[in-house]
Amino acid sequence: MAFTETFHCDVCGKEKSEESADWWLAWAERFSPLPDGDTLPQLRVVPWNLLLSHDAQARHLCGARCAQTLMDRWMTSGGESIELKGPDGN
Ligand SMILES: [Zn+2]
Repeated sequence: MAFTETFHCDVCGKEKSEESADWWLAWAERFSPLPDGDTLPQLRVVPWNLLLSHDAQARHLCGARCAQTLMDRWMTSGGESIELKGPDGN
């Protein structure tokens, strides 16, 4: 029997099935827009990618609605969201 990975939406907990479409990955990052400037928080959202989905920092999202919820939390926190982190704090 083939090993099947199971992913859950990090916002609503929904399980990803093989047929699931419209899943997304998100990262809260910091970047420097200017060479010597301060870093700024950035929320990166990309279409589902199996390799990237294994990234420990990646948040799994089951669709636009949960992506919006995640962004809401992130924006409310000023880009320092703890909500983006997993239950284990990583
Ligand atoms: Zn969801």
